[in-house]
Amino acid sequence: MQHSRNREKLVSEIELFVSYGVQKNEQQAALLFLQRYKKDDLALQLMKSFYTSLPETYEEAVCRIAFIEKKDDIFLLGLNTALHGYLYLATDQKALLLGEYGEELLEPKALTLFGYPDLKEFLEKYPSLAKCSDYEPEQFADPGFCPVCSAVTGEYHIFGCPVEVCPWCEGQFSRCGCRFEQLGVEMLEEEEELDELERLLVEKGRIPYASWQCPSYPSVKDEEDGQDE
Ligand SMILES: [Zn+2]
Ligand SMILES: [Zn+2]
Repeated sequence: MQHSRNREKLVSEIELFVSYGVQKNEQQAALLFLQRYKKDDLALQLMKSFYTSLPETYEEAVCRIAFIEKKDDIFLLGLNTALHGYLYLATDQKALLLGEYGEELLEPKALTLFGYPDLKEFLEKYPSLAKCSDYEPEQFADPGFCPVCSAVTGEYHIFGCPVEVCPWCEGQFSRCGCRFEQLGVEMLEEEEELDELERLLVEKGRIPYASWQCPSYPSVKDEEDGQDE
């Protein structure tokens, strides 16, 4: 598989950076830590970014990755070495250093993506990385299919699947009001109404399954929606 070959390549690149960049007495710990995350693209991108840029803390090993928040495919993560903490944006394609934790950011606008107008407000919610939970390996790995109707990534859900995203309002199609609005009715009662709804949905353009729709993935949106899943 192309994907896993790329991942292996990434792991050996990071091993190389560790052996050149990290001080001798921390190398073994750095490599063990890497092993733990060797199947997690997001963590690998994060470590690659850290070890290739070695910000200020030249020669320190990564000893912890913390999960802060995610928005769709973009993660806000913390990275700890023995003496420092950093804030990163990451996807499974690349990672971007935002700055040392608690200090002014290199990309001040990045936090607005997560609904924080500025660093001050962000730090009020997350005063320290120690309070954030560990980012577990493959915690957010794409299962490759919808957990409810089993549509694979890129395919349409089975009509009626609660994970399907509404193309009109981008909410949850089985719960938003768009179906009534589109049909001009107050309630769905007839079989024909469902057929008509499916026709309208296809005409509008259905949104195929993608991992970010998975309801088990914590996101700001889920918190707003409450616990009624
Ligand atoms: Zn589905
Ligand atoms: Zn809708």
